[in-house]
Amino acid sequence: MELVRVDVPFRFEIGTAAGVHHTRSLLFVRVVAAESEGWGECAALGEGTAVDPPMVDVEEAAVTRGVRRLIDASAARGGELPAELEMAQLFGSAPVDRMLAAMFEMAVADAELRLAGRSLATALEVGPGYGTLPVGAAVGIPPGHDLAILREQVAVAVAGGAARLRMKIAPGWDREPVGAVRADHPDLVLQVDANGAYRMEDADRLGELAAFDVLCVEQPLPPADLMAHTELARRMPLPICLDESLSSPRRVLDALRNESCAMACLKPARLGGLRATRVAHAACAAAGVPVFVGGFFEAGLGRASNLALAARLAQDAAGLVGDLSDPASYLEWDPCGYPPVREGWVSVPEGPGVGAWPDVPVLGGPDAPRRWFPTTYT
Ligand SMILES: [Mg+2]
Repeated sequence: MELVRVDVPFRFEIGTAAGVHHTRSLLFVRVVAAESEGWGECAALGEGTAVDPPMVDVEEAAVTRGVRRLIDASAARGGELPAELEMAQLFGSAPVDRMLAAMFEMAVADAELRLAGRSLATALEVGPGYGTLPVGAAVGIPPGHDLAILREQVAVAVAGGAARLRMKIAPGWDREPVGAVRADHPDLVLQVDANGAYRMEDADRLGELAAFDVLCVEQPLPPADLMAHTELARRMPLPICLDESLSSPRRVLDALRNESCAMACLKPARLGGLRATRVAHAACAAAGVPVFVGGFFEAGLGRASNLALAARLAQDAAGLVGDLSDPASYLEWDPCGYPPVREGWVSVPEGPGVGAWPDVPVLGGPDAPRRWFPTTYT
């Protein structure tokens, strides 16, 4: 096994109510077996969030126990890699473990799929009509709360065909910018994401955003308080979509049981990977809660995995437009590459594996530490 890390600058600062991201620290795991090889991408951001560990924590856990667990599991199978289906159970339920599980599951799935000559979409049984998906865009809070920068970024996203726009809001940055975007784009599907920055006392203020025909308010209150979202949902004329609150498969069930949200953003890396996300999605579908697949500004490999998964989830139940934009739209360069997004639509990759592998010569540069964890079985 090999762990490879590379830092890629964002094209522009990504501002949220929770902080500003300047650089995307990418971490990849490469699993080399006798007959096959696969890559997985860690979704954790350099800075982490209230509920998501920073990349360095996942990297440390990968070194101290993730690699060991996969080696032990392979040894127990006579040197064979575990099946992708078995991967999630090798890891625990802490946030770091779920991120690890998602990354290692992706690598093992990739190796398995390449050996079989199948795409992830084929393995997920994505059927006709779901091979092409609409792509949404997200815009952050611009530096200095500059309305002109926001309007320009939205204009670029809309010109690129974005089927939906998710814009970040925070106290002091809500009615005016949302009103400006709505005035510029009367027909745009628009949702706002507060990243937990508001309080119950802000219910009326948030409710005023209904005047701008906003689809939903994402994560208005801090992640821990599901019951407060349940109460806010009763007070506010806009649907609530939860994101950070859905920090584990169990929390998804809690949110559904308490009617804390009318919509849900499911992030596969946060939930523990492909299998865990499908289980959470089935619960949402049964409760009539539409879902979109959210991301962490991944490179092309992680995004390709989310893309195939989103196709399968859309087939299982009608959902919302997901975060499936081209990484090149937010990263200075994408070491993996991604299918072209044309007029707001992207095609699910059909080649063997999860997606395009990272460009190894690029990753081998001086800024990209690579660590080998060799193993032999006797
Ligand atoms: Mg969000």
